[in-house]
This record gives sequence, C-alpha cells and structure tokens, in this order.
Amino acid sequence: MAASESGLSAGLGPVTDLAGVGERVAQRLKALGIERELDLLLHRPLRYEDRTRITALNRVRPGVTVQVEGRVVHREIRQTRRRMLLATLADDSGQITLRFFRFYPNQLRLLNEGTRLRCFGEARFGPEGFELVHPQMTRLGPDGGPPLPSSLTPIYPNTQGLAAATLSRLIADALQRLESDQLQIADPLIQHGAQWPWARAVQVIHTPEPSEDLAALMDGHHPAVQRLAAEELLAHHLALSRLHRARERQRSVALIDDRGLVKQMVASLPFQPTGAQNRVMTEISADLDREKPMRRLVQGDVGSGKTLVAAAALVTAASSGRQAALIAPTEILAEQHYRTLSGWLGELGLRTVWLAGKVKGRARAEALECLVGDADIAIGTHALFQAGVNFRDLGLVVVDEQHRFGVHQRLALAAKGQRGRELPHQLVMTATPIPRTLAMTAYAGLDVSVIDELPPGRKPVTTVAASQQRRDQVIERLRGALAEGRQAYWVCPLIEESEVLEAEAAESRAAELAKALPQFRVGLIHGRMKPADKQQLMSEFSSGGIQLLVATTVIEVGVDVPNASLMMIENAERLGLSQLHQLRGRVGRGSEQAACVLLYKPPLGDMARARLEVMRETTDGFVIAEKDLELRGPGEVLGTRQTGMLRFRIADLARDADLLDPVKTLAGRLSRAEADIIIERWIGRADQFGDV
Ligand code: ADP
Ligand code: MG
Repeated sequence: MAASESGLSAGLGPVTDLAGVGERVAQRLKALGIERELDLLLHRPLRYEDRTRITALNRVRPGVTVQVEGRVVHREIRQTRRRMLLATLADDSGQITLRFFRFYPNQLRLLNEGTRLRCFGEARFGPEGFELVHPQMTRLGPDGGPPLPSSLTPIYPNTQGLAAATLSRLIADALQRLESDQLQIADPLIQHGAQWPWARAVQVIHTPEPSEDLAALMDGHHPAVQRLAAEELLAHHLALSRLHRARERQRSVALIDDRGLVKQMVASLPFQPTGAQNRVMTEISADLDREKPMRRLVQGDVGSGKTLVAAAALVTAASSGRQAALIAPTEILAEQHYRTLSGWLGELGLRTVWLAGKVKGRARAEALECLVGDADIAIGTHALFQAGVNFRDLGLVVVDEQHRFGVHQRLALAAKGQRGRELPHQLVMTATPIPRTLAMTAYAGLDVSVIDELPPGRKPVTTVAASQQRRDQVIERLRGALAEGRQAYWVCPLIEESEVLEAEAAESRAAELAKALPQFRVGLIHGRMKPADKQQLMSEFSSGGIQLLVATTVIEVGVDVPNASLMMIENAERLGLSQLHQLRGRVGRGSEQAACVLLYKPPLGDMARARLEVMRETTDGFVIAEKDLELRGPGEVLGTRQTGMLRFRIADLARDADLLDPVKTLAGRLSRAEADIIIERWIGRADQFGDV
C-alpha cells in the first residue's frame, strides 16, 4: 500500500508491525480484542490519575490521591506484629510517612536517606500522621524529575497478563502517531454533521486535560465517548443491514410435517404441551415451511421445556425426508438429549445417531456411514461439525444452550449443510434470559421466540443463604431429606481458575460428605473425568442409585433429573446471578417442593449480598436478568460469558439507547465506501457479513 511505503498508516495493519510487539505480546493484546494498530485507540481507559501537579506536603488530605515530592529524611525497618519498612519524606512545607508491608532490596535502596523522590498514592491517616502505603516512586535527579504531563494519565482495565506499562506505552505511541498524522484515520462522519472530529474524541478519551468532566468520561456521557459510541452502533447497524440483505438472497428447502409425525409424538407424551410451547412450535413450523433459512432463537427459562420444541422441529425435518442435527455444548447434555429423544422418537420409526468426540473406532465409522446414509436425526456435541463428518441431506440444525458456543461456531454449523445457495434452517435455544430491551440487538440477525410459561405444577424453589460456618446444620438437614428418598446436588464451583484445583476441591468435599452420610451413596462428577464415567454416574443418579451428587459447575446447563429436589451451592458469593440461576434450575423440575441453599463465606461484600438477596426473592429468570443488568451493567451481562452475542467496545446499549434512532437515520445517508470504512473499523472484515 502506498500509505505504508511512505511511513503513513491507516491503522489497519497488525500490531506486530509496531516496534516492540512480538508474538507473545500480540497474543496478549489479542485477548484484549486488540489486533490492529487502530484497536489500541479504541481501548477505553477505566479511569484516570492526575499526575499533572505536585501537592505540597502540608496540603495532603486523607482519602485523596496525591503526587508529592521530597527528600527521604529517615528510614527504618520496624518489627511489630509484622515486619514493615517505614520512611519519612520531607519538603519545605512538611513531611509524610511512606509505609511498606512488603519490600524488595531495590526499594530499600531507593529509600536511602537523602534521596529525592516523587511519590504517587492515596493518603491516609496513620499512627504516625499522614501516610502513603505502597506509593509508586520515581527517583529525582539533581535537576529534578521527568517533566510533569499536561494531561491526565489513563489507567486501562485488566490487561490479560500484559504489563500495564507495555499497554500504556503502545497506546501512547499510537496517540503520538495520530497527532503527527503518521496514523491517518478516515473520518467520514465529519461530512455528515458529527460534532467532534474522530481524532480529537480519541485524544480526549485517552489523555483528557485536568479540566475535563472526568465523571462523564468514565460513565460514558461525555460527548467524546458519545461520539465514538454512536459510530460503533452505526457500524453494527450497517453490518446487520447487510446481513439481512444477504439473507434475502439465501434459499432453503421448505420442511413440512408430511407424515403427521409431530402430532403422533406429542400424543404419545405423558404430558400436554403448555400454551407457550404450542405457540413457539407454531412459529417454528411457519418458519420451516418457507424457502428461506429460518434463523430463530428460542429463549426459555430453565425447565420451561425447550427440548420438546426442539424435538418438534427435528421431527418435522425428518418427516419431510431431510436430516436434522441437534448439538449441545457438553457431552453430558448431548447424551441426555439422546436418551430423552430416543424415547420420544422411538415409535415414529426414525433413525437417530449419536456422535461425540469420544466416539471412536468402529462405532464412529458406523455413525459416519449412517449420517451419509439413512440417519434421520443426529444428536451430539460439536464433534458433529468437524471435518470428515458429512450428511446425506441436512435440512435443519438445532443448537442447544447457544450462549456456550461462539458466533463463529454457529456460522460454521450453517455452512456445513450448504449446497450452493441453499442453507439448512437454524434454530438456537438458550436459557440465558436477556432483558427484553437488549434482546433485539444482542441476538444479531435472529428472530426471537420466548417460552414464557413453565409446565404446570411447578413450585418455585425455596432459597436460603447460609454462612458456610453452618455447614454442619446444612448436612443434618440434607440427611433428613435423603432419608425421605429425595435426591440432592452439592455444587463446588470454581474456586481457582483451574479445572485441576476445582476437581480436587470437589473430590475432598465428596469424601467428607460420604463420611458424614455413610448410609447414602455419594457420587462425584467433574470436568476432568472420562466422558464414559460421567455418563455412568449421571445415569446412576437419574435412576436413583446415587442419592447425593457432588459436582463442579459441569452440571450447570441442561441436566434434568426431576427427582432431585435439593441443591447446595458452595462459594455462592463468588458466582454471578445468571450462573446461580442456571445451577438452581437443576432442581424444582418434579412435583416435590424444592429447596436451594446458598453457602457463602463471610464477610459478604455489597455486590455479593445484593446478588444473594435477589436469588432469595425471585425465581423468575427475566427478573434476575434485569437485576443482573442493574448490578453489573450490560457490558458484563453481554460480555465474556455470552460469547454468542454482540460485544461493544465503547457503546453501551442501556446507556446509549437514545442514539439508536439518529444512528439509523445517519446510516441511510452514507455512501457504500463510507459504510465500508465504518464497518471495517469497528467490526473487521466487512465481507464476513455477506455470507452468514
Ligand atoms: P429446558 O427448557 O430447561 O431445556 P426441559 O426441556 O429439559 O427444559 O424440560 C424440563 C422438564 O419438564 C423435563 O423433565 C420435561 O420432560 C418436562 N416437561 C417439558 N414440557 C412439559 C409440559 N408441557 N408439561 C409437563 N412437563 C414438561
Ligand atoms: Mg435444556
């Protein structure tokens, strides 16, 4: 490109083109969503520090973060209850104590008497008067220190193992290039009435003057943030419009229940579908009846009966002579679907095939042969969509618990059954309730159906919170319930970010509970067990052979054992609302009154207390989702856990809802080339939206 030959850049090149960015740093940047030079500029600071001024020591006030300069006049290592390093810093106006509970030889040297230092930290009132605990320190030479910055210093959020200083330097370099025009970012919105030039908005967000409205910069109401948020929403709007246009051109084969098999299946069930299930099944069959690919999301709270809705769609495809596939995110869940559906479909004369990663050798060869042969319905994990797996005539793909899959995996599934312009219909199901206000934008490009009714006779799960110091009482209560023939889960969630440690914690808890409850069978299930062992355990639990199942969060999604009516969740204070809701949804599926005990380790923080409170007050997934949104903000709710959905860098759907209308109007005025620039900047390759 001519621009890069002349040393100029449009910011779209990979970060590895930048000085000081090797493979390792690039990997870490990628984890932050930073792959191009431009992305550095779109990485928004979390907060700012004011290092533009030096505060005289007699003006220091407790609770205020300050930058001070002075000379070390005293240093000592004190051994009271704990060892600590104390130093006294003095300037012309007064002095302050520097306190360190951990320290290294180089810090000790830095604090030699006579050294001149610049320190930054929050002042507090201590036993010796005002003090700074673990301040950041810079040594000052005879002619003073480095010049003070004229703007505030940005602090960036979690850096995924990247040194904060490295990230700050890379962003500062990019800002420098932007200022000196080496980095030239096109700004098409200026022609369309944008109040702020793009580059100026970026500069203000990263390095505001001390006089800027900091609160507004941090909460996002500042016009500089709004300028970029609007552009980001515009990018998504433009990309979605393209997606819709592309879909208009796609074709599918209409699927019709020619043989009346759905009716036959429903008639053979031990229950009547609820009104909501019937409504959603009708919506789906209307979609399938068209020669355009269905793209529908079924949202239904845990236990609302999504499996039946999926089954009706699968049977419709089979009934019209095509194949259908159901995939689930975990082997436990897929296997459970296989068992349930084999039962429901058994009398319809349909051929069902099971495939998971662990199906090997002859069994696998047979399954593969069947898929290109006379299989009607395939059930399994994402193994169904790996290379080497082929279908005779795939007409429908159903994805359960879609939030566990990424958008890209979902797209790969669609591509699997593609023949020329023809694509299979797609149905995705999720129990993660997204607040209605966000659903439309969050589930980009999907039509949404909601199962908003639970099967009759369900009694809401009674929930209590208990300090883990009362674990013995909880075990007593459990003993009583098990003696009455009830079954229970005991969940030990992730304590460290390690599956190994999690498994160990669950193992030792299982051993302890087995000892405390010798008259009952206690099972243990965790993510590191062999799939065959997991399945064995689940089926023993299902059939009642095991009364108490100790588990890690592997049971979070979809597991269905109606006789289990008690759930204990340890470390509940560390889990988010949606995860707690998912876990609790494993009980309360039978006619028995179910109970859930949230065990926590005191003292509780405000957030944790608020979350446990919500769990005690309601079992309604939508209410919980709204509360989750309130407590954490949409960035988090729609963030890492829900990888199947849109994520924003700057925009915030709840905060910026009023930008959506102006953005739509603006979208209509842009030229194709201008739209390309905006999409490319925020979302990446514009063409990927052409073939969804
Ligand atoms: P989820 O929406 O969480 O996937 P499932 O499909 O697993 O829910 O259904 C939960 C339980 O409710 C299952 O045991 C299922 O057989 C049962 N069920 C589903 N629909 C009905 C209904 N209409 N009436 C009674 N029980 C039902
Ligand atoms: Mg389910």
